Amino acid sequence: MKFVRYEDETGTHLGILSGDGGSVLDIASIVGAHTTMISLIERWSDAMYTCLRAALDGPDTAWKRIASVRLLAPIKRPVHDVLCVGVNYLDHRAETKHSFANDTRTAYFTKRANAILGPGEPIPARLDLDAQLDYEVELSVIIGKRGRDIPKADAERYIFGYSIFNDLSSRILQKTHVQWFRGKSLDGYAAMGPCILYREALPFPVETDLHSCVNGEPRQTSNTGMMIADIASIVSELSLGMTLEPGDIIATGTPAGVGIGFSPPRFLKRGDTVTLTIPPIGVLENRVGHGI
Ligand code: MG
Repeated sequence: MKFVRYEDETGTHLGILSGDGGSVLDIASIVGAHTTMISLIERWSDAMYTCLRAALDGPDTAWKRIASVRLLAPIKRPVHDVLCVGVNYLDHRAETKHSFANDTRTAYFTKRANAILGPGEPIPARLDLDAQLDYEVELSVIIGKRGRDIPKADAERYIFGYSIFNDLSSRILQKTHVQWFRGKSLDGYAAMGPCILYREALPFPVETDLHSCVNGEPRQTSNTGMMIADIASIVSELSLGMTLEPGDIIATGTPAGVGIGFSPPRFLKRGDTVTLTIPPIGVLENRVGHGI
C-alpha cells in the first residue's frame, strides 16, 4: 500500500495509490480527515488498514487519474529535524575518506527540513553560499509509533513505512563547521517521495535496489543490503535513551557515486535533473532551480 499527499482543484488530500500507480484515492471518507500524514500515522490502526485494503480491492468509483493531481512530499514538515545516518555504505566510506572523518561506529547527524520538497519541486539551490551542491539517494524509514529502548528484534513493529529521500548537501559548509548540520540544512535541501510504502510491502530486513541519475546519467547504484548498520540496528540504537515518535524520518545513508566522490568532483549545476529510484517505492525527480 502506497500513501501519498496530493493537491487537486479542491485542495490538499491524503490518498493511496492504485496497484498500477495510475490512480489515487482520497482516503478521508474511509479513515477520517487528517490534516497531515503525521496525524494519520499517529492515529493509525489495524482497522484503518483493513478498510483501506477493502477500498483498494473494491469497485470504488472515486479513483482519480494520477495525471490530474500534483503529488506533494508525503510529509511536508517533520516532527523534529530529520535523523540521518552518515557513511553507511562501505563504498561511500571509501570514496569520502579524504573528505570526512570516518569511524567504525555508526555516524548519526540531524538535518533541518523546514519544508521537504516533493516530486518535481525545484531545488532552491543557494550556489552563492556553497557551489558544491551534492545529491544522495537514501532509503528513508518513517517511524510508526512512539518507542524508546526498542530491541533490535522489535524494530520493524515501530516502522510505518519507507520512502525515497534526497539528502542534498552543501559540501563546503559540511566541512567548515566541525559538525555537518549547517551543510545539510539549507532551506529546500531535503526531498522525499513520491509515496510512503507501507512496511508490509518490503520483507524485513529490507534488501532493495537504489539508484541515482543526473541528467539521465547513472551515478549511484547499490542495494540496501549493503548498508553497514542495518535498519533494525539503526532504529534500536537511536531509540536507546531517546524517544522515537510517529512520523519521525530516518535517512539511512547513501552508497558510492555522489558528486564529491568523483575525481574531479561532479557537483550539481542549475538546470540539472536528479532522478532517484527505489523500484518498489517509485521515482523521485527534482531539478536544480534558483534559491528562494
Ligand atoms: Mg546522507
